[in-house]
Amino acid sequence: MMDNIRSHFPQLEDTTHGNKIIYFDNAATTLKPKSVADSLITYYQKETSNIHRGIHTLSEVSTNKYEYTRELLKDFIGANSTKEVIFTKGTTESINILAHSFSSAFIGPGDEIIITELEHHSNIVPWQLLKDRCDITIKVLPINDKGELQVEKLKELLSDKTKLISFNYISNALGIINPVKEIVKIVKENSNAFIHVDAAQASGHTKIDVKDLDCDFLSLSAHKMFGPTGCGLLYGKQEHLEKMPPFLGGGDMIDTVTFEKTTFNDLPYKFEAGTPHIGGIIAWAKAIEFINSLNFDEIQRHEDDLLKYATAKLSSIDGLTIHGTSEKKTSVISFTMEGLHAHDIATFLNKYNIAVRSGHHCTSPLMKRLGVPATARASFSIYNTKQEVDALYEALVKIKEMFC
Ligand SMILES: *Cc1c(COP(=O)(O)O)cnc(C)c1O
Repeated sequence: MMDNIRSHFPQLEDTTHGNKIIYFDNAATTLKPKSVADSLITYYQKETSNIHRGIHTLSEVSTNKYEYTRELLKDFIGANSTKEVIFTKGTTESINILAHSFSSAFIGPGDEIIITELEHHSNIVPWQLLKDRCDITIKVLPINDKGELQVEKLKELLSDKTKLISFNYISNALGIINPVKEIVKIVKENSNAFIHVDAAQASGHTKIDVKDLDCDFLSLSAHKMFGPTGCGLLYGKQEHLEKMPPFLGGGDMIDTVTFEKTTFNDLPYKFEAGTPHIGGIIAWAKAIEFINSLNFDEIQRHEDDLLKYATAKLSSIDGLTIHGTSEKKTSVISFTMEGLHAHDIATFLNKYNIAVRSGHHCTSPLMKRLGVPATARASFSIYNTKQEVDALYEALVKIKEMFC
């Protein structure tokens, strides 16, 4: 199966923008299998219609396909029911919904929430906005020099005021895999806090099982698991979601409306106001089916192999530093080179048609902790190869000869 994986991704062969691409920017967004693109085209060319409202044939077709994605996602994350599967625009929106709806139901002035030093801005800023609305304290679990969370310090951060801990499963900036179950255990033993897992970076790499992780909420984005942009998931345990008020008000999320009072629709629709990215959500099913046709053991074996191979090669370059040296990592190499800015590395690699990202990766506090303004980041997916890593290595050696 892994052998012909590249044939599913037409963009790997495309030359519209020069030579074929070596795509190492998977932590920003993954490429899409042809089946996903075809599904989007089918929706827009043959099945355009709005969902949940019409009784005409096309609306019924779209509604069925849309709800089929919800069924697939329920099984993909191991949720109990489709009531627990809320469609959003992506992880960012999921966390913002939580920061409004969860906080309305469960958080009051003086309460505390915990995040970590490894978080993406989308798991920092919504909580700061909440802090401005409601007098809460945000505590931050630090990392060690290898980039690992200092889980042993968690206990001292927890108190009877802690209402939520929100942290990522896999760091988009360093590729570190966090010990979610260990963290959950410590939180449950020492507090009544709820647990939210940002699984945006985990979904295309690792099996996610909300029951096994024992989390209360979880977020992810379709576009990091071979699906379209603008589609995401917020999972929540039904009993919590029932208690939470909606975030956005509008169409589809209501039961009855008068000017005096509105009653809300049932879960999950209570949280899904307005017309969503219907074609995208329908196409997301193709991405999930694609992942289901592989298996996570194979995916992980391939990506771990690549990561080890690339880590060894890149480490051998004098003056190149890899940030995040934990053993528990996947698919990301974040690095700097002495005497060169990360943007210059990315610009130079672009000349060789190698796409990497440079910058703070939406993790400015983490960059500060690492003591660098920015890193270059090569992030891998299932279709990447050792030959591509060789090309990256050779290009980096050339950069070094030219500039250092
Ligand atoms: C990408 C990412 C996000 C944000 O996802 P969006 O799709 O941009 O909303 C949040 N957290 C992590 C760990 C990510 O990798």
